[in-house]
Amino acid sequence: MIKYQHALDQAGLLINIDKLSGLANKHKSYYKCISCGNELIPKLGKIKQHHFAHKTTLVCSKETYLHKLGKRVFYDEYALCLKSQLPFIIGLRQEKRCVRWKNELNITCFKNEPIEYDLTKIYDTIELEKHDGEYIPDVLLLSSDGRYKLYIEIAVSHFSSEKKLQSRVKLIEFSVQTEEDLIPIKRHKIIENENNAFHHFKREKEEVLCVNGCTKSFDFFVVESDGRSILYQKKLEGIFLYLQDKEPLHYEISKNKGNHGNKYKYLIAKSYSKNIKVQNCFLCKYFADNNWLENIDGKKNPVFCKILKEPCNSQKAIGCKHYRVSRDFVNEYQYYNELFNFELDPNKPDNDIDEDNWF
Ligand SMILES: [Zn+2]
Ligand SMILES: [Zn+2]
Repeated sequence: MIKYQHALDQAGLLINIDKLSGLANKHKSYYKCISCGNELIPKLGKIKQHHFAHKTTLVCSKETYLHKLGKRVFYDEYALCLKSQLPFIIGLRQEKRCVRWKNELNITCFKNEPIEYDLTKIYDTIELEKHDGEYIPDVLLLSSDGRYKLYIEIAVSHFSSEKKLQSRVKLIEFSVQTEEDLIPIKRHKIIENENNAFHHFKREKEEVLCVNGCTKSFDFFVVESDGRSILYQKKLEGIFLYLQDKEPLHYEISKNKGNHGNKYKYLIAKSYSKNIKVQNCFLCKYFADNNWLENIDGKKNPVFCKILKEPCNSQKAIGCKHYRVSRDFVNEYQYYNELFNFELDPNKPDNDIDEDNWF
């Protein structure tokens, strides 16, 4: 049974079930489904959450319902803002790039902070499903002088087609998976986050310095001169101090992301393929997985050496006369990157946004 929170009333106005409880003749009115157009009955019982249900059992697409509802709610709320001179705010993510360690490490840390704009100051006209050239955006916002336009797309199951994204018109894709997702629209404030995408907006880029030093950690992989390899998690200052102190054969800085064990194996396999003299039991043909077994010292020994017949740390390979690289392991670990995407550009901002910074 599909339960909806919204319906169209006799006048064709969108009505929320919560607004119905106080109305005197609520059961006498006729309500219509915004998706299939069939009659809906308000269910205002004491136990279940109030909702509208179809009068007769029939096939009604929840996706279509959410899509039509999203468009309608946006239209109604934006039109209300225009009529009542209320702001409708969007928060556009800006790039603030901290350049404290840029010269030394060629890494910048990112601060993503939204700048808020009131759309009604620019776009004073709203159209629902109107042709704009060959496109029909879900909602079209226009400035009355015709200079500016913005498409709003309600994405229920899929984001906009490539074609639409190529059009160069500013576009906000707003993802709606449940009726609760419409709350930002009802509050007249849409902040760019993982639930929506803002395309073709001009973004200010600003170079800044983190106020109290850079707090973000990065993965810092080093191969030392004797072939030893370590995957650290360090802040940029720590990486800088390390490199002042030591001269590793090789190092790389990447985003602090993913399972460390798998990433470590991937990084040693990659180094080996680049002819860096890394030496590690994970690459050795006598390697067997000792998983989480611990030896009597209580130290984690991830390796079981098939030739020494004992558990050991993966650095045991340094100076080991039996050490032989197995191509199988090299290939297997390199494949981890396809699975886990370890090679994200550390200079790109993270997609996940710290919600606390947004309000
Ligand atoms: Zn329906
Ligand atoms: Zn910084």
